[in-house]
Amino acid sequence: MLKVGITGGIGSGKSTICRILENLGVPIFNSDKVGRQILDEDYQAKKEVVRVFDADMYKSNGELDRERMASVVFNDPRALNRLNAIVHPRVKEAFEQWCQENQDATYVVKEAAVLFESGSYHDLDKVVTVFAPQEDRIKRVMKRDNVGVEKVRKRMTFQYTDEERNELADFILMNEEGVDLLPQVMELHEILLNEKK
Ligand code: ADP
Repeated sequence: MLKVGITGGIGSGKSTICRILENLGVPIFNSDKVGRQILDEDYQAKKEVVRVFDADMYKSNGELDRERMASVVFNDPRALNRLNAIVHPRVKEAFEQWCQENQDATYVVKEAAVLFESGSYHDLDKVVTVFAPQEDRIKRVMKRDNVGVEKVRKRMTFQYTDEERNELADFILMNEEGVDLLPQVMELHEILLNEKK
């Protein structure tokens, strides 16, 4: 079974591409979603968050106060590193377990906003990055998340640049406005189905 990573800057179109692949029957592991679940549900992870940050990082219903955490970690790279040190090893473990459960697939996809930054691409056989111009991405995220331009720009500063991602990736999908994504995804799917591990 081939392990494929799909990454790209915020708003580049990772989730859109993964939805297409999912419809083609490819198992998709959404790292960001699993990371969020861990912070809401994993007792040991929550205990560490409270120790490293503060008890009021959690709301009364037991869920992480994402707004509050974002305002801390997106203003302080060291705090982001501390949060990642809690989340990333657990996401890695969950991914390994999930791969065991999906062993019969020809290939599986790990979708992650940060794949190179976290070093987790070392565990993957191939990495795909999605490229879209910054202006397109900002417009899309503002619309999708109903947030202002500054918030989007700030999040981008904590991610690799397109140049850095393109340099390390095996495949690049282009998702700027007006470009047809579907044929690119179909071609990638064909290649990955025939790729030998
Ligand atoms: P990511 O997962 O990389 O953050 P998404 O796949 O969620 O990005 O895409 C961001 C937003 O932009 C979504 O609302 C999606 O529907 C929209 N979008 C994705 N690709 C395009 C495109 N080619 N043209 C217009 N909108 C797009």
